[in-house]
Amino acid sequence: MAMHLKVVGGGPAGLYLAYLMKRSHPDYAVRVIEQNPPDATYGFGVVLSGRALNVLSEDGEAGAIERLSARMERWNEQHIVHRGELVAIDGTGYAAVERLVMLHQLQSLCRETGVELDFNQRLERFDDSDCDVLVAADGANSALRDAYPLAFDRRVVDRLNYFAWYGVETAYAAHTLTFLQREGGTYCAHHYRYTPSKSTFVAEVDAHTWLASGMSTMTDDERKSLMEHVFADTLRGKPLISNRSFWRRWRLVTNGRWHYRNIVLIGDAQRSSHPSIGSGTRLAMEDAIALWRAFEAAGSDIASAFRRYERERRPVRDKLNRAAEKSIAWYEDMATKMALAPCEFAYDYLLRTGVMTRERLAKESPEFMRRLALAEPLS
Ligand SMILES: Cc1cc2nc3c(=O)[nH]c(=O)nc-3n(C[C@H](O)[C@H](O)[C@H](O)COP(=O)(O)OP(=O)(O)OC[C@H]3O[C@@H](n4cnc5c(N)ncnc54)[C@H](O)[C@@H]3O)c2cc1C
Repeated sequence: MAMHLKVVGGGPAGLYLAYLMKRSHPDYAVRVIEQNPPDATYGFGVVLSGRALNVLSEDGEAGAIERLSARMERWNEQHIVHRGELVAIDGTGYAAVERLVMLHQLQSLCRETGVELDFNQRLERFDDSDCDVLVAADGANSALRDAYPLAFDRRVVDRLNYFAWYGVETAYAAHTLTFLQREGGTYCAHHYRYTPSKSTFVAEVDAHTWLASGMSTMTDDERKSLMEHVFADTLRGKPLISNRSFWRRWRLVTNGRWHYRNIVLIGDAQRSSHPSIGSGTRLAMEDAIALWRAFEAAGSDIASAFRRYERERRPVRDKLNRAAEKSIAWYEDMATKMALAPCEFAYDYLLRTGVMTRERLAKESPEFMRRLALAEPLS
């Protein structure tokens, strides 16, 4: 049976799923509906770990990843800056690409395979009767998911820390985390280059700092000025660039059920995450691969494909969610870690989710472990 798929949302999840489905089934009608024009974006650059690139190449479609690879910035270590001292964690490969470049590549792949792309169209009413499958790929604030909160068993938790995404016209050598204490406040920045001259800069503060620094009553422009002041050295004197860079708390959304009738959730609509645990972009694309593979196995039996998708993908997502919660808790508690010496601090950070162990670090990051042993022998 030739199916009709309607995908709400032309982000990485929706576009990649549409492309994979149409490539496998040229007779299917696959349509993506996106509220923005094709070149509107936010988020500056997206990061993909070396492992993520391998997974996407092996499980998805190697050609698509190769196209992206040509425009990527790469590095082989992570930097943690604490008390102004840089600690390098060797053996952690990452790559980053401009989000708009990634979306353009995915849009091209969709066009080349015959996916219908409808831009500048915001769906307000969700009709699942004019298609066989309605895919909710409409992001973290998914209106399609929120139309059925009970059916999806949606759970929303607002965490304590506040953050905003910015860009900056400077290039950092590696994926870097900078931690600072200023006037009683604790500040963190996740920053990485995504072109030879531009970087993403995510600023985060804990709940105490939000109140004590006065950020809670500032405008977003004032908060940006404060970040430029606090991170002046890290920013190398450059201003932060805003693009929908408003401050908010981390909102974790999970869903007890991922499908209802002929509607299925993927990407940020299915759950939101924290950048410290892996890029939302990579997870969104892996969801698309998992749903596509479920359809490859189940054919046009939609209910069976949905069940298979959830059965295969949920254990991976649940494991990541548990790690994300531990990671978020570490950031909420970061003020208590600031007394640690730089290497010890980095070690505590790396072990925060329980996924990384001392043994794994010894194998994967031997230079860092040698430095740690010299700096502060572990008992
Ligand atoms: C401000 C911001 C900046 C970010 N920056 C980064 C970053 O630098 N690096 C990184 O790895 N991750 C970043 N993320 C996270 C990352 O963007 C997401 O995890 C990832 O994009 C999820 O992909 P998605 O396709 O599920 O959702 P999205 O990328 O959010 O795509 C959803 C799409 O649906 C469209 N849409 C929503 N509702 C409707 C509707 N009713 N009708 C039609 N279209 C609709 C939206 O316009 C959007 O294009 C950022 C997130 C935000 C909110």
